[in-house]
Amino acid sequence: MRKPLMAGNWKMYKTPAETHAFFESFKPLVASASHCDIVICPPFPDLHAAMNETEASNVEVGGQNLYWGKEGAVTGEVSGNMLKAIGCKWVIIAHSERRQYFGESEPEVVRKTEAALQYGLTPIVCVGERLEERESGKTDEVLAEQFDGGIAPLTPEQFARIVIAYEPVWAIGTGKTATPQMASDAHRFLRQRVAGKFGDAAAGAMRILYGGSVKPDNVKTLMAQEEIDGALVGGASLDPKSFAAIVNFPN
Ligand code: PEP
Repeated sequence: MRKPLMAGNWKMYKTPAETHAFFESFKPLVASASHCDIVICPPFPDLHAAMNETEASNVEVGGQNLYWGKEGAVTGEVSGNMLKAIGCKWVIIAHSERRQYFGESEPEVVRKTEAALQYGLTPIVCVGERLEERESGKTDEVLAEQFDGGIAPLTPEQFARIVIAYEPVWAIGTGKTATPQMASDAHRFLRQRVAGKFGDAAAGAMRILYGGSVKPDNVKTLMAQEEIDGALVGGASLDPKSFAAIVNFPN
């Protein structure tokens, strides 16, 4: 019912030349994949190369961040308008590294999500608890706060156009994956929260991705969970064979 989405987040890796090389290998490996949407989010300087490489392919491109507003005196930032103009269809918002290193908090998540929607981008809005929060039994509380502050203020029309990514911070880049049960529980909690705010139909339609050390050897088990609608993949999206194996999880 919900089409899976496999999104790669390259973080601060790859030059334009490395971007070309990645797509040369990756595209043929996923050319027949129609069971899921495929997105790569490279660093900004690689977007031009990524757009050229993915033209007329089944791979779409996204930004890793944006700033609200169309343009302005905001040194070092990139707007949704600019991402759209270069050809992006997607943008990651509130990745835990942005929350942790750049202090992004819920009011900014709302503004960024609204700005992305205004320019026709699909935001992938990240939520997730830190290790100490999980260990002290606060996972649901944290997810509720992030949902209530960063997502619930959207209108139903805006909400219908976003994707949520549940990324437990302790699983990102650590090789520790949430068990399928942990991921399912968190996704179910978020879906209930969505139902409470936006209704059952919106909850049923919402794609919730899992992110945190997704690899070719664990993707099948994760995707077998009814609640998991795709993956946001960091490290394993840098290698064309590895990300292709994740995209081609049903095979
Ligand atoms: C991420 O960057 O969103 C991520 C989940 O990274 P990794 O797959 O490397 O854990």
